[in-house]
Amino acid sequence: LTDLTGKTAIVTGGARGQGAVEAELLACAGASVLICDVLQDDGVALAEKLTGSGLNVRFQALDVTSESAWATALDVVQEWTGRLDILVNNAGIINRKIIRDMSVEEWRKVMDVNATGAFIGIKLCAPMMMQTGGGSIVNISSNSGFSGHYDPAYTSSKWALRGLTRSAAMEYAQEGIRVNAICPGLIVTDLNRGSPHLKPMIEMTPMKRSGEAEEVAQLVLFLASEGSAYITGEDFVIDGGFTA
Ligand code: NAD
Repeated sequence: LTDLTGKTAIVTGGARGQGAVEAELLACAGASVLICDVLQDDGVALAEKLTGSGLNVRFQALDVTSESAWATALDVVQEWTGRLDILVNNAGIINRKIIRDMSVEEWRKVMDVNATGAFIGIKLCAPMMMQTGGGSIVNISSNSGFSGHYDPAYTSSKWALRGLTRSAAMEYAQEGIRVNAICPGLIVTDLNRGSPHLKPMIEMTPMKRSGEAEEVAQLVLFLASEGSAYITGEDFVIDGGFTA
């Protein structure tokens, strides 16, 4: 059984969807988890629910694109447990416009949240992880980060996350920080609920079903734990055979 007792984790975009399930699973394994999100009400409600069932969880409002908000979140961790072991860069947004319909501003917004947000998180969290000998960073990319799609900003941001993952893994390996990416296929959440792409994607998936947030969270748990101690700089596709 994976035991994260004594460890502290940050999960961005943790107020709902996959992030909420990832935060809960890490907390169930014994970690103290700081759930960070722009959705204050959902985050507070989730933290209350999980705390009520005996888990060590807190919520902190955080826009991943804001360097000062990251600094505040790290101050909260410092005061709360005094250490940081796990960072899950899960926050993400999608904009399905094709290039001819998308403004530069809309492009920048997606890149800012999905790619730059993870960059700032790694840059600011790594020094705190180093203070206790290292840690594990998990970036939630997508199987969209392996080919082209009709959502160019989202697809490009997820390719960028894979590049960031590999580069950060090299840079921080000596400091004991591992950096890996998870590339999920279709997981039905608020990000894509009601999308006309759901049915055809399921039909194109060899397993003929969408994935569950719990299945992604199990991989987060593995990559966050000592069981994956020699794994860094890798992408893990979890998509029922879609990319195969
Ligand atoms: P979701 O929309 O339910 O959750 C995303 C969370 O990120 C939300 O809670 C949202 O408030 C938060 N968020 C958005 N912008 C933020 C910001 N600037 N700062 C902090 N938090 C912010 O979607 P989800 O499906 O749970 O997605 C989680 C991650 O998984 C995303 O990175 C997404 O791209 C990725 N992903 C999802 C799928 C899928 O099929 N659902 C597939 C592949 C990858």
